[in-house]
Amino acid sequence: MTIPATTLNDGHSIPQLGYGVFKVDPEATEKAVSEALEAGYRHIDTAAIYGNEEGVGAAIAKSGIERSELYITTKLWNDRHDGDEPNKAIAESLDKLGLEQVDLYLVHWPTPAKDNYVHAFAKLIELREQGHTRSIGVSNFLVPHLERVVAETGVTPAVNQIELHPAYQQRDVVEWAADHGIRIEAWGPLGQGKYDLFGTPAVVDAAAAHGKTPAQIVIGWHLQKGNIVFPKSVHAERLRQNLDVFDFTLTGAEIAAIDALDPQDGSGRVGTHPEDFN
Ligand code: NAD
Repeated sequence: MTIPATTLNDGHSIPQLGYGVFKVDPEATEKAVSEALEAGYRHIDTAAIYGNEEGVGAAIAKSGIERSELYITTKLWNDRHDGDEPNKAIAESLDKLGLEQVDLYLVHWPTPAKDNYVHAFAKLIELREQGHTRSIGVSNFLVPHLERVVAETGVTPAVNQIELHPAYQQRDVVEWAADHGIRIEAWGPLGQGKYDLFGTPAVVDAAAAHGKTPAQIVIGWHLQKGNIVFPKSVHAERLRQNLDVFDFTLTGAEIAAIDALDPQDGSGRVGTHPEDFN
């Protein structure tokens, strides 16, 4: 099983499909990540706030997989943007993960009311220079937040990890990112199971046409759009299913039918609005 890699604006490559561990219970994380690695995943997306970096680290240590074959992302939490807090936060994350360097470190949310995301991103630039992370990026940033970090630090984030699924495609952010060489990582790629995505005719019809499950069709839609994705499942069968998505190509009409599932009024959002999360 070879998962395609894609290249970021800093020249580093990232597997386009990974495994996310949001809401994976800390006690269950080592087993879940071990199963994911066993199934063939090499890219793991965690965050300090998930409380499960130690479980990710334990699974990595036990796997015996070469560090260079793994791609590990973690994130700076909202209450650690100021002063030298980012330096301390990444040191804690690296300690829990049992790593000397992560592949990607993200500012988790812009927390715009606190007006400290530019400082936080500037600290990430330092952390990259110091070798604590190979690449740096942001998460949940809207266009005005992206504009400010680029203008005020002179550095373009490698990725913006945002809520993105068929009912909520954030086209303005995606377009701005594409114009500036920022790759989109889609969180909640399956809509977090919060709406009936898998029963929607556009998805069901494509699933029947390609002999795949609705989840595989949605993952394929993301991959064909160029999104980086890391769907989450703690069930071994689904975890494997979500990786078995490289043997079909959606037609232009199938892609267009899924594209049309976004009401484009923001009502498809399942998570918190970045302006409101501080
Ligand atoms: P998701 O869209 O991946 O949904 C996960 C849910 O989909 C599972 O709990 C399961 O119920 C269902 N599912 C998964 N595979 C399935 C299958 N094959 N068939 C049927 N149902 C299936 O949502 P997510 O976990 O929130 O997002 C993925 C990852 O994105 C997270 O684990 C995390 O790493 C990241 N994330 C980041 C942020 C952020 O603020 N940056 C926020 C949320 C999630």
